[in-house]
Amino acid sequence: MSSQSEEPKRSRRRKKEFQCHCCKEGKTFCWNCGCGFQICPECFAENKWGISNGPTWICPDCERIHMME
Ligand SMILES: [Zn+2]
Ligand SMILES: [Zn+2]
Repeated sequence: MSSQSEEPKRSRRRKKEFQCHCCKEGKTFCWNCGCGFQICPECFAENKWGISNGPTWICPDCERIHMME
C-alpha cells in the first residue's frame, strides 16, 4: 500500500497577498508600512487606540505616520 499524498503544501506565494503581523493570518488586505509591518483591519480595529490617531495611524515598528484612506 502506497498512500503518498504529494500535495505541495508549502507554496511560497499564497493567494493572500498580505499577512497580518498581529494575528499572523493571511489577508487579502492589510494596512502596511514601508518597513514591512502589516496589520489587518480586524486587528487594526482592536488596536486602534494604540496606533491610530484620527485620520492617521502610526507604525508600531518604525513609528512612521500613515494616512488612512
Ligand atoms: Zn490581524
Ligand atoms: Zn513601519
